[in-house]
Amino acid sequence: MSKMKASTALVNVLKNWDIDHVYGIPGDSIDTVVDALRKEQDTIKFIHVRHEEVATLAASSYTKLTGKIGVALAIGGPGAIHMLNGMYDAKMDNVPMLVLAGQVPTSVANTKYFQEVDLPTLFSDVAVFNKQIEDAETLPDIVDEAIRTAYEKKGVAVLTIPNDIPLTEINHTVAAKQEVFQQVKPEISTESIAQAAELIKSAKNPVILAGVGTKHAKEALVQFSGHTKTPVIISLPAKGIMPDDHPNFLGNLGKIGTKPAYEAMQDADLLLMIGNDYPYTDYLPQESVKSIQIDIDPAKIGHRFPATVGIVGDAKEALTALIEATDYIATRAFLEASQENMANWWKWLREDEAKTTTPIAPEAVMAQVQKIADKDTIFSIDVGTSTVWSTRYLHLGPHNDFLISAWLGTMGCALPGAIAAKQAFPDRQVIAITGDGGFSMVMQDFVTAVGYKMPMIVIVLNNKELSFIKYEQQSAGELNYAIDLPDINYAQFAESCGGLGFRVETFDELEPAFKAARNASLPVIIDIAVDSNAAPLPGKIVMDEALGYTKFEIRSITEDHRFSKMPPLKTIIRRFF
Ligand code: FAD
Repeated sequence: MSKMKASTALVNVLKNWDIDHVYGIPGDSIDTVVDALRKEQDTIKFIHVRHEEVATLAASSYTKLTGKIGVALAIGGPGAIHMLNGMYDAKMDNVPMLVLAGQVPTSVANTKYFQEVDLPTLFSDVAVFNKQIEDAETLPDIVDEAIRTAYEKKGVAVLTIPNDIPLTEINHTVAAKQEVFQQVKPEISTESIAQAAELIKSAKNPVILAGVGTKHAKEALVQFSGHTKTPVIISLPAKGIMPDDHPNFLGNLGKIGTKPAYEAMQDADLLLMIGNDYPYTDYLPQESVKSIQIDIDPAKIGHRFPATVGIVGDAKEALTALIEATDYIATRAFLEASQENMANWWKWLREDEAKTTTPIAPEAVMAQVQKIADKDTIFSIDVGTSTVWSTRYLHLGPHNDFLISAWLGTMGCALPGAIAAKQAFPDRQVIAITGDGGFSMVMQDFVTAVGYKMPMIVIVLNNKELSFIKYEQQSAGELNYAIDLPDINYAQFAESCGGLGFRVETFDELEPAFKAARNASLPVIIDIAVDSNAAPLPGKIVMDEALGYTKFEIRSITEDHRFSKMPPLKTIIRRFF
């Protein structure tokens, strides 16, 4: 046991857990920790962001990509409050995170001191582990426990650290290096596999809905689908778990989903839910349809849809067991009908991608993205219409990654995700796709990418409005209000940050800009003036939405005294019938 500052012991624990970087902003109430990190800067990189929200969003994205815990740090008071958004992203997408928040010194605690906020209360809803350090001797052990708990509970662990505590000399033994945290997987019951196999054998129209919990089981999923000739539908954040061009793949389900996925669900006589907690139950079959659900968390079985057979366990293991327990099926009429449906869907999308209009169609932008993307590009996607265009038009293969704030759905997640992606995989191409609404919430951190020499391509689909909200208002029959955004030149902004910027206003400028961005060694923004009337229509328009659009149109004439620019009728008809 040796004497050392508590801050040094804290940093030793981080090193033991193989933590090699921290996102944050220094400041008075956390500076004693930052000073210890300064001394270890060769082992733990401090990524100094420009807003604490970006720190936690980047930490969350890093974990989504690598499985390793992300760490963010800020002062107490305002810095801690700014971190909340990314912390909720981690909580809701079930990823471990460690947050170190500063606090006023113990000598002035509870005196309504400058920037003193009751952080344990503030964090009580978001955290799975939430402690304010009271005794320096306990600091390293509590940091260790925080990390373990974050991994085990797949959530956010927060330590609030009064600024004097890290300076205290303590007795500490540097522990041996930790193995990466191993999640205990429940043993799969052979009975549940046998019951599920029976259901699969007797089904004519089985359909798979696979989610984020299947990300590590890509090959098993493809094999199972081929073995049983079952079409595969995914949840949106699971994009990439099945290659987009796989013949058994029907895309994702929901407003942003495909029409073939919607129709396959309607016609299914067996639903296999694998590693998902899919929330939009209106898109699932009638509850009388039989179902098999595979989930590692027993609490999720039957959570969204009644499970005829629940298999508690790991998706990869369960799929492997089901392949063994079922016979090979050579052909299935339901799959063939779904494939025909899907071929039609792709034909429609190809027509959209071929648009050469000015103002530029977002679909045409996606076609350009695809042309310059590598086989292992990491796509970091924002929330808004950029979500729709990216999910629907990008073709991902088995080596791509797709990042998004899936459950919190926070705008501004694409750039922090791209920063994290570049930190995790410096040699892979990183493309962020965002709108002007999402990007302008975090744009200050483009300079972080420049400063840390993180070449990336940020595509800003600039339509000078909050377009997703515009269509939400319309489909609900409301008139548009408070959705306009100013025309900012994001290319000039990129240059002023020390990056590269391309402003694309006509279709002809599109391809040259992408080619130049592809070869750039600096972070790039391609600021594209896209058609604000490009409608991010649902894959399948349901009756409520059709009625909503009609109501909006009537109100535009009677209350606003103008004809609105409705989405193209041809697309509406195709997606409705
Ligand atoms: P999660 O909710 O994270 O569930 C994963 C499940 O896997 C959990 O139950 C977990 O216990 C389980 N699991 C984890 N590990 C394993 C393992 N090893 N083995 C087995 N099980 C495991 N989503 C859509 O699907 N369609 C949409 O149209 C759609 N629109 C959206 C629009 C916007 C603008 C945004 C921001 C999001 C949208 N989403 C959409 C995302 C949606 O909000 C949900 O986040 C998403 O559907 C949840 O996906 P999931 O169930 O796969 O993931």
